[in-house]
Amino acid sequence: MQISLLLFFGGLSFCKAFQGGILVDNERKPVDDKQRQQIQDYLQAVLQTNNDINLTTIHDFNDGLVLHIEDSLAGLEEVNSAPDGQLVDLGTGGGFPGAPLALASSRDVLLVDSTKKKIDAIMGIVNELQIPRVKAYAGRIEELAQEQPGAFAVATARALSSLPSLLELAAPLLIQGGHLVAYKSDKADEEIERAILLEQKLGMKFLSCRDLVLSDGITPRSIIVFEKVAPPTVKLPRRPGMAQKRPYA
Ligand code: SAH
Repeated sequence: MQISLLLFFGGLSFCKAFQGGILVDNERKPVDDKQRQQIQDYLQAVLQTNNDINLTTIHDFNDGLVLHIEDSLAGLEEVNSAPDGQLVDLGTGGGFPGAPLALASSRDVLLVDSTKKKIDAIMGIVNELQIPRVKAYAGRIEELAQEQPGAFAVATARALSSLPSLLELAAPLLIQGGHLVAYKSDKADEEIERAILLEQKLGMKFLSCRDLVLSDGITPRSIIVFEKVAPPTVKLPRRPGMAQKRPYA
């Protein structure tokens, strides 16, 4: 309640501003030349495949460089700060942010999507380009949580669902101390506030939020991290669909 009031009066923001996005080709280079080439080849292949299977609404390579690649790598710092272990990309679609993160970090990555056609298409690309350490799961996140509870050190999610739903989906998949790294557009404070109401129930605790703008100068991004600090006090996962259709907050 205190937090709501503070936010209402504009006195508190959970997110820290960060000057300048992470460019694929800027001087601070989060990736080396080989990694950059592999990531660009991946984007090219996704855009080509997109003619047959709908993987992304972006068709232009240069737009994709910013809105898929630079954006996916915007959370690299947070991913690298998480405990060692496997990363799961929830609702990966065309493999974002999971595939670029696999190429830019040394983690094993599992790409998860309920649309089998998308998973088959991106694994075709992963195999053709011989991208190492990437596996995929065609099925619902809730099913994966039944099969592999507590198997992941990091869970990432972009454009999947609200933060309260993401916390619920990620909690049963994460190891104790594992991190959820959520990619949100700006004005994330209200969602964070709702998610914080679920901290006890889901055993997840707010850790950080970083605001940035991508190099197009107009696309805002908030990278939000929650840590799994305890087992959830409710039985998770709930029935498939519940976390997204009837979130706890
Ligand atoms: N992360 C990608 C795609 C976002 S679209 C990007 O940012 O570009 C959301 C994707 O999540 C869709 O491909 C959809 O099939 C998948 N999805 C939604 N709910 C899911 C669930 N419960 N389990 C698995 N996949 C899910």
